[in-house]
Parts: sequence; structure tokens; C-alpha cells
Amino acid sequence: MMRDHICGGGYEVFIKFRIVVSIALALSIVACGQDKQDETSAADSKIQPAEVISGLDQGLASIDRDGIEAHLKYLADDALMGRMTGTPEYDEAAAYVARHFAEIGLEQAGDDGWYQAVPMLARRIDVESAKVVFHQDGVENEQTWQEGFVMGGDTVRAETDITAEVVFVGFGIHAPEMNYSDYEGIDVEGKILALFGGAPDTFPHNERAFYSSGLTKAEEAVKRGAIGTISLRSRISQKRYSWKRISENAGVRPGMSWVNLSGEAANYFPELQGAALLNVPPAEDLFKTAPISFEQALDAAEAGTPLSTPLGTEVTLARKTDHETISSPNIIGVLRGSDPELANEYVVFTAHLDHVGIGVPVNGDTIYNGMYDNAMGTALLIETARAFAAMPTPPKRSIMFIALTGEERGLVGSDYFAHYPTVPTDSLVANVNLDMPLLLYPLADVIAFGAEHSSLEGVISEAVVDEDFVLSPDPVPEEVLFIRSDQYSFVKQGIPSVFLVPGFTSTDPEIDGSALFNEHLQTHYHQPSDDLSRPIDWDSALRFARANVRIGFAVAEDEKRPTWNEGDFFGDKFAR
Ligand SMILES: [Zn+2]
Repeated sequence: MMRDHICGGGYEVFIKFRIVVSIALALSIVACGQDKQDETSAADSKIQPAEVISGLDQGLASIDRDGIEAHLKYLADDALMGRMTGTPEYDEAAAYVARHFAEIGLEQAGDDGWYQAVPMLARRIDVESAKVVFHQDGVENEQTWQEGFVMGGDTVRAETDITAEVVFVGFGIHAPEMNYSDYEGIDVEGKILALFGGAPDTFPHNERAFYSSGLTKAEEAVKRGAIGTISLRSRISQKRYSWKRISENAGVRPGMSWVNLSGEAANYFPELQGAALLNVPPAEDLFKTAPISFEQALDAAEAGTPLSTPLGTEVTLARKTDHETISSPNIIGVLRGSDPELANEYVVFTAHLDHVGIGVPVNGDTIYNGMYDNAMGTALLIETARAFAAMPTPPKRSIMFIALTGEERGLVGSDYFAHYPTVPTDSLVANVNLDMPLLLYPLADVIAFGAEHSSLEGVISEAVVDEDFVLSPDPVPEEVLFIRSDQYSFVKQGIPSVFLVPGFTSTDPEIDGSALFNEHLQTHYHQPSDDLSRPIDWDSALRFARANVRIGFAVAEDEKRPTWNEGDFFGDKFAR
């Protein structure tokens, strides 16, 4: 899961749940199969003949602990050095996935065999050159790298150096349909913006997610003529992660952008010539000459009230950046559907294969193995493919499996695929994404982020029942997780998508799933300790894996392709 977008902590919001009575698995498969036949024969004799039902069960039976565990042991081993995009170890992991796709019997569906090479421009800031200077009342206040601020490199330019007035613009959001604007009566032409991450919690769920996106904010800032940004830490973000966690690997890992066919870097705003993230003490200093205090700015953000103002100070943002052209593959396989028409449509399963590589040592360990993030998602992806291939008759639609590159570098591989799919975009009917499924305790529920936006919700809530799961609503809408992993790249191309993760409810009433989730985010997420020593509840892992297959199967068999809900916010924004 992406660092910039995932946020731990603050899981105070507990979900309501129904307690599910467990039924022995074998019984449930048989019973459910029969239920389904009865229901469907009554409703529509065309859907799900008996042989397909038993075929699904045959596929599900191929999923076992040994299969998943073997992938974890390979992908999360120290030898793969944390699978950083662009490294030889990532390429080894890619070859491993391709070997398994081949062994399973998928068709190659990249543009070069199994691979879709994603051309990227990598950037690495020259830490010595990184500079943030406040010019206040004739005094030059130079801030300290890592202690006071961090910044990334410029996507394209070798050197940037700007000095301009700073204007505080709240969250940096202009949302007329929400009757909200941080830009009302504020001129930011030629200015540097100081702004908080996120969006007001007065916004409804979807709007909050969309407007929290850094891309949405950058577009608005550029439209208004801003030339740089200074990010500030809101109270929510201060609670999520310590400054140490945020700053300890600053400058260590390269940033990356994919490059289009004309050689231009994607999602690049050349108008923005500087960017920095400030720690809280320098942020307080930045407001010293302003008509409001940093405390008042924090209060306004918390209340969701715009309170924009020039800060009465100039700031210099400067840096040098080294660039390198690299290429890193998505790995793509297809299981061809059985219906002559519907086989030309694809249900797409994705999981990112990359992680964050090596970094500063923690307890003497420099290898960030990424066992849950996302060796686990990749292992489940491979075994999902095996299950579909084990069905005597494949489902009607084709199923595409993609191990994605560059997720941790900013959803790079998925955004590239979504722009340059290896099959026509219109043939992609849905995306089911797996990223960091935490299988830490006996699970009672699953969450499908984004399901409520489309007809996928109904399909998924029915499909997971057969594994004794309930589909729970998003328990933490304030975390806007829907935009924080690879499925959002598909959503932006108008494709109904979900991000499937285990829920926070355990079948064991003594276990607080939300507390365990939180503990993982605070202690192990993007740390060397997300490794093979983390516990795995195997019964839940197998049920979760089977539920994933059931979801894909239901979507692939459905006569109708998934549709956005009428009037849905994301559907209206992005549907084709
Ligand atoms: Zn991650």
C-alpha cells in the first residue's frame, strides 16, 4: 500500500457487525452450491448450470496453505531485498510470477510475452542541496533537513529554486458542488501554497476521497497560477504517524513516474517548481508573521471551515535532482472465458508485486520485506489464477491477472496499464485489487472499498456469504482508502473497481480486529518487521482466498457487466 496515501492510527470508528454462525466449510460449499442451483433455476435457467457450480468447487479445492506459503517464502525472503521497483530483485520476483502463470496454463497477455514494460523516470533528490528558507522581517530562517522538513526531487528538472510569498489555503480544495472553497477571495498567482493534506470531514465519503487526492489538489493549484507547495501536518496526520516514521527514509528511495509514448512524465505539473513537507515546529514559525496562528489553522481544518490568508512571509524552496530512465514490468496473464461473446470481456485481478526495498536499519534490519504488503496479495493472486484454471469449464468472461509494478512509488504500474491496457479499455469490466490483506485473526467479515459505487456491491455481498463472511461497509471513511491503492487507477478510467481486504471483525469476540490492524500499521507497516515472522491465521487466509475467487467468478458469469450506480460521484466523474 502506498505510503503517501495510507494512514494508520485513528481507527476509533468501530464497525457494526453481525455475528455469523460458522458452518463447517465442506457442508457450506455443498449446501451453498445447492441453494444456488435452486435459486437460479427458479430465477433464470440460463445462469449457472450444475456443471459450472461443481466447476467452481473444483477450482476452490485447489487453494491450499502450501501453495500460498511457498510464494510468501520466496517473495518475502531477504534474498529479494524488498522488491524495489527497478532493481534486479524486483525482476527476479517478476520472473517468478511469470513462471507460475505459465505453469498454471494462463495465456501471455503483456505486450512482450508475460511482461508489459513500464518506462519510468526515476528521481533522487540531492539531499545536500535541499533548502527551505523563511524570509521573515528581514531575517533568514533556514530550516533543517529531516528535522524540520523533507522533500522529494523534481520529476524532470535537474534544479529548481524559487522564492515567493506564501499563502495558506486550508486543504487547497475548491469544491463548488459542496459549497466549499479554500480559494474564495484569495489570489495565489505566482505564490507558494501552504496547505494541509486530506479534506474536511464535513464532506461526504466519496467527495472527501476525491478531493483528498494530491492530483486533484495539484490541478487546482496550477489552474490558479501557484508555483509551489508547502505541506503542513493536520492533527489527524500528526496522530497517524510520528515525524520520525515520515522522515527517517527521506531521500533514501527514488520517486518514480511513468513516461508516455511522447516521452513525457505522467502526472507532472511543471508549473509547481518546489514542494516540501514541514514538521510542526517550523510550521508554527511559518505562521509567526501571519494574521492567524498555526493553532488557529489547525482548528479551522478540524472544523472544516475555510480560513485562507497570506502568511506575510516569503519562502525559498530549492533542490537538485538526479534522474535515471528505468523500465520495470507489469506481469500479465489471462484465462480465456468459455462464452464466445463474453470471452472478449475481462475481469481484472490485480496485486502489486513491488515493495519499498531497503532503507534505514530498524533493530539492525535494513530489508523491508513487505510480507503482507504485498507478497500476500501477490501469493493470493497467483493462487486465484490456479483456482480458475482448475475449473473444468472456465467462466464465461475472461479473467486477467496482473502483478503490478511501482505501486509504492505512486500507483505507477497500474496507472500505466490503465492508460495503455494490452486489451481494449472497454473490454475491462471490473477490477478486484488485493493490497496488504492482513490475515491476523479469525475473520468474520470482509470490506470491499469502492463496492458501494457500483453494482459490484450486490455481487460481492452474495459471493462472500459462501465463505461465512459478511460484507461490511467501509469502517474508516476518513482514511479515504478507496483512492489509495491500484484500483483507483482503474476507477479513473471509468472501470467499476473494488479493493478487497479483510474486515475488522473477528469470529472470536475476545479479539479486537481493529486494534490488531492499527497495531500493524503503527509497528510493522513499511518497516523491516513486515516479514515472514508476522502471524497468519491460515483458516482465514484460505477463506479469504476462496472468497476472492467467488467474487471474480460471479462477476465473470453475470450476464450483465458491472455498472456504476445511477448518480454515483465517481461514476459521474469518470464513466466512459
Ligand atoms: Zn505499501
